[in-house]
Amino acid sequence: MTMAINKVGVIGAGQMGNGIAQVCAVAGLDVVMNDVSDDRLKAALATINGHLAREVSRGQLDEAKRQQALARIETTTTLDKLSDCDLVIEAASENEEVKRKIFTNLRPYLKSDAIVASNTSSISITRLASINAHPERFIGIHFMNPVPRMQLVELIRGIATQDETFETAKAFVTRLGKTATLSEDFPAFIVNRILLPMINEAIYTLYEGVGTVEAIDTAMRLGANHPMGPLQLADFIGLDTCLAVMQVLHEGLADSKYRPCPLLVKYVEAGWLGRKTQRGFYDYRGEHPMPTR
Ligand code: NAD
Repeated sequence: MTMAINKVGVIGAGQMGNGIAQVCAVAGLDVVMNDVSDDRLKAALATINGHLAREVSRGQLDEAKRQQALARIETTTTLDKLSDCDLVIEAASENEEVKRKIFTNLRPYLKSDAIVASNTSSISITRLASINAHPERFIGIHFMNPVPRMQLVELIRGIATQDETFETAKAFVTRLGKTATLSEDFPAFIVNRILLPMINEAIYTLYEGVGTVEAIDTAMRLGANHPMGPLQLADFIGLDTCLAVMQVLHEGLADSKYRPCPLLVKYVEAGWLGRKTQRGFYDYRGEHPMPTR
């Protein structure tokens, strides 16, 4: 049994939230996108507009579909506007306190049978579910970045997630034209459990002076056939998100092999969070990205 999903709420209009809103709207679903500030929402709409315009210019989408998709997206800074959503996906910053507050504040507004999901990269779905009135209708729906281009979506069942919730989430992912895999609810799930320690190790390699930013990225692109170097990828993901995932792995699995590299901590403390702040392991303010070390 699956439930019908016609309207989707997306909380957090950052790089993931706007991508999720975009793919839902293109798939014909109504979307309400929420963020704390109007500026964030305007920026998200501009990003979606830009992406869809590019798809039209490449012949991947027709103009009428672009306009229909844009018309399906509403924006709001208040949670009461999510009261008629069948599914609400939280994609706010990777901070458990922030997510807790969102789920608590959302509770009074939700439709009685709504499914609630988190796009968290690493936080326990079972723990997040427990903040919700209906843990059986809570699930992890973990999109990859950039959402419109990446084929995979990880589904993570919390201890209480019922079959109907899982089947509905799976049908939703299929409707978006993506492929779902199932991960058990352990820190960072599958993709990030493997990917982030690799990125963290690349940062240690830089920290210990084994190679420069360029040497490390070139080595992994040409030597391991990765489409992007690990430091370039870290900037793309966001260094705050990378650090948050490593901290969850370190705390959740209590193994020193997951210790976040002090250099990663330093970049985050400097506010050099990668592409989103124009500076990380590369500086993006000029015409070409320049290594910062
Ligand atoms: P981001 O920093 O680009 O965006 C986060 C957004 O959340 C911001 O616009 C911020 O204003 C908003 N926000 C913060 N508090 C809020 C609140 N109380 N209510 C509404 N909005 C709020 O981050 P992101 O990269 O989009 O990541 C979002 C989530 O997706 C995180 O849980 C992250 O772990 C996960 N994720 C990230 C990636 C990635 O590669 N970046 C991949 C998969 C999953």
